Amino acid sequence: DTDAVIDVRIGALGEHGVLLLADDLTRAVRVEETRRDFVANVSHELKTPVGAITLLAETMEDAAEDPDAVRRFAERMQTETRRLSHLVQEIIELSRVQGSSALTDAEPVEIDEVVEEAVALNRNFALGSNIEVAVGGSSGLRVFGSSSMLTTALSNLISNAITYSDPRTRVGISVRRDGGMVEVSVKDQGIGIAKDHLERVFERFFRVDRARSRSTGGSGLGLAIVKHIATDHGGEVTAWSMKGQGSTFTLRLPEMGRTETITVGSRTLE
Ligand code: ADP
Repeated sequence: DTDAVIDVRIGALGEHGVLLLADDLTRAVRVEETRRDFVANVSHELKTPVGAITLLAETMEDAAEDPDAVRRFAERMQTETRRLSHLVQEIIELSRVQGSSALTDAEPVEIDEVVEEAVALNRNFALGSNIEVAVGGSSGLRVFGSSSMLTTALSNLISNAITYSDPRTRVGISVRRDGGMVEVSVKDQGIGIAKDHLERVFERFFRVDRARSRSTGGSGLGLAIVKHIATDHGGEVTAWSMKGQGSTFTLRLPEMGRTETITVGSRTLE
């Protein structure tokens, strides 16, 4: 436990090697605490839809004589089941990105292809929400990493931009080079995020408006996944927003130049 570790630290002061060991212990305790928090959060988040489905199933049994009521309950059960399935998918996705390093099967990635793919994944959602997704011209820039993970990250940003915007607004995606970094920005004209909340949006399970997020099926894990993928690629994700003024999320990734070659094991990548 934490007390024991603090004791070890105090007892070991002056002994460089032992102090290092104590530091490792502290880190191990912290990792364990994070893991325990995560499991507690997951259990809590799963209980809500599972509870709702159980209740609906019981009520449906009581209403067996009334076909209209049965149909209504069945529809609500489907909504809850979709929500549950989305949540489970996001939990699996987060453990997947946390468990593997992007760089194990990394390769040169054309960022324009990632943008195209992520936009395509959201095409039906954008159409259904009556939101125009506009991509600025092609950049011809490359990064080094996992194209599937980068597509997931960008797709999460685009799907959020659509989710938190009103119909007939626009989501703009642009790519540019800044120093040695490739910057991909997703800008919306949506509801925006207040300053206090902005600092917390990358936390796991954080949602500004739980009620609204519930109706949109949000899990609060999308941005935690994006952050993990960005960091894993040696980059970062940042957010700019003002309540009522829309938001801009920017992925910054180290650029891989056209003439650069990278050697991974026995493979040379150009
Ligand atoms: P969720 O599945 O709830 O969208 P995320 O981790 O993707 O989870 O986002 C966390 C919270 O940040 C959201 O619930 C929402 O309140 C806020 N948020 C994320 N993207 C945007 C955006 N583009 N505009 C406004 N709010 C956003």
